[in-house]
Amino acid sequence: MTVVNQSGVPQYNPLESMQRRFDEAKDILGLDEQFANVLRVPDKVVAANIPVTMDDGTIRVFEAYRVVHSVHLGPSKGGIRYSLDVNVDEVKALAAWMTWKCAVVNVPFGGAKGGIKCDPRCLSKGELERITRAYTLSMRHVFGPDKDIPAPDMGTSAQEMAWIVDEFSKISGHNSYAVVTGKPLILGGSLGRVEATGRGVMVSTRSAMAKLGMNPTKTTCVVQGFGNVGSISAKLIAQIGVKIVAISDVTGGYFNEDGIDVEKAIAYVEQSENKTLEGFEGGVKVSNEELLELPCDILVPAAMEDQITPENASRIKAKLIVEGANGPTTAEADHILNEKKILVVPDILANAGGVTVSYFEWVQNRLGYYWTEERVNRRADRVMKQAFDNVYATSEKYSVDMRIAAYIVALDKVASTLKLRGSF
Ligand code: NAD
Repeated sequence: MTVVNQSGVPQYNPLESMQRRFDEAKDILGLDEQFANVLRVPDKVVAANIPVTMDDGTIRVFEAYRVVHSVHLGPSKGGIRYSLDVNVDEVKALAAWMTWKCAVVNVPFGGAKGGIKCDPRCLSKGELERITRAYTLSMRHVFGPDKDIPAPDMGTSAQEMAWIVDEFSKISGHNSYAVVTGKPLILGGSLGRVEATGRGVMVSTRSAMAKLGMNPTKTTCVVQGFGNVGSISAKLIAQIGVKIVAISDVTGGYFNEDGIDVEKAIAYVEQSENKTLEGFEGGVKVSNEELLELPCDILVPAAMEDQITPENASRIKAKLIVEGANGPTTAEADHILNEKKILVVPDILANAGGVTVSYFEWVQNRLGYYWTEERVNRRADRVMKQAFDNVYATSEKYSVDMRIAAYIVALDKVASTLKLRGSF
């Protein structure tokens, strides 16, 4: 049942969306209920209230979470989100998606996610630093290079990761680069990490286009979200010959049927005061709702959850959707997209390039030996291509869409590990 808020706007719960797909895949696999019961819920949920002194001298308390969904395949891995929308169900869903994502790309990590309920745009650099250090201190028993390894997500960047390395290193009494990934290069980061998620979206798009027989030079694409994932996906998809006809961010959408100059848009955001597309003149202004329904061949939602819903799915015109964001499509909308025969490359496959290169970063930190960008990209592209082919073959084998196929691949792997490792 869809719940509506006070203004009558439908509210979706990403945890329910995750569990519905999980149940569908579990039934197809015939997974024993006792193993399913372990994997449906998180291993550990840590909630904290962190007091932080603001620039004006007052103390504010921030709601913070770290959810570890599974450690069956290895130490848990997942980003930290700073947003006013952070809530425990969202973090639980995002943590589970990390488990499935790592399994889909064969990365030896479990899944986790963290979040702090705050609006990073309204905080000074000093306040952000104190919040990040207080969060690290609060989660010091959860984090660790062999336990749980955070990374950036919405609202966080390499700078927050640098503060976590520093705080965690002080707490543990030795330098600990491998405690987080997505770090600045000079602090043990990996070449290619910033571009990795968008690059994986491009590789997934290219693979799907080949399956659908789409010619890149006769193909148009719309990208929602113009942060790390959206802007780099748009840039790299344009580089393979596809025309990007619309982009968007929190300020709205920008449509140009002759093609958006993506490099120009990226430069515009970098130079703008509030780092948004506000005032960008390379396209006609449309709303974010209209953007999703524009005529195009490929749609890349790369902003946030619950964007493609039963309310708008029937009006989507793209033939191919490649999910850069986590959870952009609700479970109810999946069925409408399937009926319309739209191929959806699901989030746990399409945006897994980020965690793949995060794994490479962690490997390099542990080796103390750093790879060239060419090596990082070559290996990541190979991983993404193999994962796409595996999920596509699974979807054909079980006659299911690619999302359920990706869950089948992941669940099968994690459940097999769980069976071998056993329990109390
Ligand atoms: P980001 O903070 O860099 O960018 C988010 C973008 O979305 C911004 O351009 C913002 O303006 C825009 N946005 C926010 N609200 C919007 C709205 N209502 N409509 C349209 N645009 C809106 O975040 P990011 O790292 O690019 O992450 C985007 C998504 O990708 C998230 O779902 C995240 O979980 C997922 N993801 C990120 C990574 C990564 O490596 N950064 C990896 C995997 C998945």
